[in-house]
Amino acid sequence: MTLGTQWVIDWVRACAAVIAEHRVELITLDRDIGDGDHGENMDRGFSAVVPKLDELADGATPADVLKLVATTLISTVGGASGPLFGTAFLKASVAVGSEPELDSAAVVALLRAARDGIVLRGKAETGDKTMIDAWTPAVDAAAEAEAAGQDAASVLAAAASAAEKGAEATEPLVARKGRASYLGERAIGHRDPGAQSTALLLRAAASVAAD
Ligand code: ADP
Ligand code: MG
Ligand code: MG
Repeated sequence: MTLGTQWVIDWVRACAAVIAEHRVELITLDRDIGDGDHGENMDRGFSAVVPKLDELADGATPADVLKLVATTLISTVGGASGPLFGTAFLKASVAVGSEPELDSAAVVALLRAARDGIVLRGKAETGDKTMIDAWTPAVDAAAEAEAAGQDAASVLAAAASAAEKGAEATEPLVARKGRASYLGERAIGHRDPGAQSTALLLRAAASVAAD
């Protein structure tokens, strides 16, 4: 099986829905170790993308949709997460090229490019208690699933599960990047909001692919 433009469009709609649904949860996480706006930032960004999906040209490729998400997030989200997720979608868009259909290898390339883009922009390393702690295990699990011959939907499911575990694993960490790094040991015991939103976005990708 492969995933086409409709999958990307459905994914973006699912992102908007799941972020809206978890808005308060993300705000609460960010209130604990940041400035309390992560849910609002993400909701503003994805809500702004949805109406633009209707303006996509016939024959739009997966890359076109990913690029639309990127430019919209960059211009509407603000904060640390806007440019980071914006860069992720922009690099993902470049990675899939003009392919109309994405197989499992293309899905891995998409996820890896997104993660690499966030690292390039934010310079976070594994264990810094950021969204990277969800993205990197997701990319690794996706690559492993692809190497084992799994299809694109299963690759995404593996990525989503690994991102969820990665987000949970940020709880005992001290933050070394972003606002939470100002808190020192007081960040211990709190989950990183950007890692949690990453897990939500990747679970949405997997759920839509499985339908
Ligand atoms: P802000 O901190 O500007 O209010 P948000 O609250 O929207 O922005 O996003 C905070 C999230 O951004 C954090 O939970 C973390 O996951 C992520 N983040 C912050 N700085 C970095 C960085 N340098 N690299 C990767 N992720 C980061
Ligand atoms: Mg914040
Ligand atoms: Mg802020």
